[in-house]
Amino acid sequence: MVAQGSCLCGQIEYQVELIPEKTFNCHCSFCRKAHGAAFVTLTLAKGDTLNIKKGKEILKEHKNDLGGFRAFCSVCGTRLMNYAPDKSMYLAIALSTVDTPVNFCPGAHANIESKASWHEPYEGIPAFQGIPEGALD
Ligand SMILES: [Zn+2]
Ligand SMILES: [Zn+2]
Repeated sequence: MVAQGSCLCGQIEYQVELIPEKTFNCHCSFCRKAHGAAFVTLTLAKGDTLNIKKGKEILKEHKNDLGGFRAFCSVCGTRLMNYAPDKSMYLAIALSTVDTPVNFCPGAHANIESKASWHEPYEGIPAFQGIPEGALD
């Protein structure tokens, strides 16, 4: 589905085609730290459809040791998306930044082995160590 998203201060707006069936809660320590949250819900998206409609100049990137990027608004700090140097290989959208109403839910908990000790993932969907098989294909 094509979705519109934005950051908290509204100075960044984007449009992207999401892949709803590739939605999961990531409990890895990097996401938890980067988002300042118990976990983050990510939806994979088609990298070549990403259109930063507004605020491209204030969208900053943090590059990790593996060469991936975490993009955020340098004005309000909202964490918007993660991607590989080639976005068509990997683009994950922080679903909380999507403004278009969504009618789908996360299908799994991922990286459960590094979840916060003070957080118990909710039941009803499977929990995986690492990323579930096929989730990123
Ligand atoms: Zn912002
Ligand atoms: Zn993660």
